[in-house]
Amino acid sequence: MGRQAGFSAGSGAGMLVSEGDPEAKYTELETIGKGGFGTVCMAVETATGEEVAIKKISLLQESSNELCVNEIQVMRHHKNGNLVNYVDSYLVDEELWLVMEYMDGGSLHDVIRETRMAEGEIAAVSRECLQGLDFLHSKQVIHRDIKSHNILLGLDGSVKLADFGLAAQLTAERSKRRSAVGTTYWMAPEIFTSKPYGPKVDIWSFGIVGMEMVEGAPPYLMKTSRTVRQLISSGGTPKLQNPRQQSAWLRDFLRCCLETDEDRRWSAQELLQHPFVTSAKPTSSLTPLIVAAQQFMADRRY
Ligand code: ATP
Repeated sequence: MGRQAGFSAGSGAGMLVSEGDPEAKYTELETIGKGGFGTVCMAVETATGEEVAIKKISLLQESSNELCVNEIQVMRHHKNGNLVNYVDSYLVDEELWLVMEYMDGGSLHDVIRETRMAEGEIAAVSRECLQGLDFLHSKQVIHRDIKSHNILLGLDGSVKLADFGLAAQLTAERSKRRSAVGTTYWMAPEIFTSKPYGPKVDIWSFGIVGMEMVEGAPPYLMKTSRTVRQLISSGGTPKLQNPRQQSAWLRDFLRCCLETDEDRRWSAQELLQHPFVTSAKPTSSLTPLIVAAQQFMADRRY
């Protein structure tokens, strides 16, 4: 209980959460997964039958308080069709419960691991993610942890950015950030060289997601974290293993995202006009891919 009081008073997060008993409002159905800060379960709102995901974040870890406040603030204030939507949040004993829309297609990481994506599908995912990033960046928010695990899918083919715990709100007084946060393989070179950085770090990270969609994994995956840092900060644009297997448009799109010079790297708005993106298939074309990934995972479980 002491912890809960600290969370409310110290961080102001108590002001952000709703009153009431979520255990009466929602019926939990299954645990979807476990993350670094707690578990995520699928539930339905008992009165309406609406499906939701509830992320239960333990407040016993000192670092989770700030992440929670961030996540709630970003999700609450920035609603968009390409971001996972916030529904509600509650304090329950030593946990923060973040109620959000349920994405029934799993993560892009699952699809990448289980299937091979065609270029039209890669372009469709890119367009949707770039729309989400363009929206966030227009509100001066940097996501700072773009990777395939944090891109969630709906069975209807919808594609949404998730996990805003590391997001940063820029202001007129503080238009750049310096802290080295993110997940190593996806982090932009300017973060490793301790330069002040802006929203373009998300574009680099999305370029790495592009490489994941093409090759099944981010570059340098088998290397140690230290080597990866050195390679990203001084190695230039990461190279595709078999570039001739990809179209010129796809190669050029990745080059525009993975430009080491932040000023020359394209913005989300510019990338949305790139011919690779404008030639994307409709999102409904992603449904068979998502179903196939879920089928492969289910087959392995039984
Ligand atoms: P980390 O703690 O490093 O961010 P993570 O991304 O795996 O790890 P969570 O974001 O807590 O952790 O997610 C745990 C699991 O729940 C993942 O499999 C994720 O895809 C799933 N998940 C998270 N949010 C939702 C949602 N809104 N709808 C459906 N599944 C979700």
